[in-house]
Amino acid sequence: MHKHHSALGLAALRPVQPVTLVRPHAARRAARFFVEKFPGRALYAVKANPSPDLIQILWDSGITHYDVASIAEVRLVASTLPEAVLCFMHPVKAEEAIEEAYFTHGVRTFSLDSMDELKKIQRATRNAEDLTLAVRLRVSSDHSKLSLASKFGAEPSEVTELLFAARQAADTLGICFHVGSQAMTPQAYVEAMERVRQAIVQAAVTVDLVDVGGGFPSIYPGMEPPALESYFQAIHAAFESLPISYSAELWCEPGRALCAEYASLLVRVERRRGDELYINDGAYGALFDAAHVGWRFPVQLVREEESETREMAFSFYGPTCDDLDHMAGPFMLPADVTVGDYIEVGMLGAYGCAMRTAFNGFGATETVIVEDEPMASTYLTEEADAPRRSGSVVSLNRVS
Ligand SMILES: *Cc1c(COP(=O)(O)O)cnc(C)c1O
Repeated sequence: MHKHHSALGLAALRPVQPVTLVRPHAARRAARFFVEKFPGRALYAVKANPSPDLIQILWDSGITHYDVASIAEVRLVASTLPEAVLCFMHPVKAEEAIEEAYFTHGVRTFSLDSMDELKKIQRATRNAEDLTLAVRLRVSSDHSKLSLASKFGAEPSEVTELLFAARQAADTLGICFHVGSQAMTPQAYVEAMERVRQAIVQAAVTVDLVDVGGGFPSIYPGMEPPALESYFQAIHAAFESLPISYSAELWCEPGRALCAEYASLLVRVERRRGDELYINDGAYGALFDAAHVGWRFPVQLVREEESETREMAFSFYGPTCDDLDHMAGPFMLPADVTVGDYIEVGMLGAYGCAMRTAFNGFGATETVIVEDEPMASTYLTEEADAPRRSGSVVSLNRVS
């Protein structure tokens, strides 16, 4: 893989296709943060970005457990990291997938939210006695930017029966939940842990594992969450007060927080129409969330000469022939942006690169490593006072 200091060096080569910029140092920093500071075990939720390079970086930085949701993800991680522990945390699985995961790839941890799924797991593993079964509770997504509250999770009325049955079938019994992605306050976890408490008290079963799922936030324009430490403290306090044994384990499954800062995208402006920029990646590429849920990603103009003009709000059109291929933004860029300019779109490591399709013949192909800092970081706060590495700029168009 080619290496550049920053997007600027790459833009000088005038790439015709959009290019994915990856920052291994940012992924390493995120992984080390969770490994060192989360008061339990942090699994990586592979769907956020299944790049084998990234998975290897996380492993090298101490992430040993992986939350996988499909048999393809199981195979991918098993072949990339033969020693990793895989946890199949999708509550609705194909029976064949469970069987292959258990017998071929050594997967022992499965989540479920219904009696049907429990029976499926038992059939597919031939009533294995070494299972870790995590019952997924339905919890509110009220504090999160992307809801995960409708599709999965057992209702309070179903939980007692399910915990009871899973206790009989499991060697290790867990409870898990997901508060929704990009949870903007630790309170989301505090409230979910209260549901865990009620479920344990009602079922009166011994619980060996509590998995608080993903949802840990990153920084985007208009979304500045509190420090991750405050989430960890709130989760730790709630966990300590649960009626569970001293040996019970605490897990989490961050996706976004471990990889958002890992990648950005360099795109080119192919046309300008007033405040609309036609760029060469979009809704069917890495900008799915920008188009479909109005997510605002940070942007910066990548030009050798700093622009002297004030910033204004732009929206983007992607390259396909589809009206849907539109990103409303607003994306703030210097007012003199023009055809042939390059723009870096930041914070696309999570749910950006992973969503890309080849629809209409478009989609980034090349990936290069860059060494500068991501446009925003949840992990740089402690070092905020330290002198910035030379050339490590937050906004390229402001370099003097
Ligand atoms: C998507 C998902 C995650 C990761 O969520 P983030 O919001 O990216 O942290 C974790 N666990 C499960 C079960 C998921 O479906």
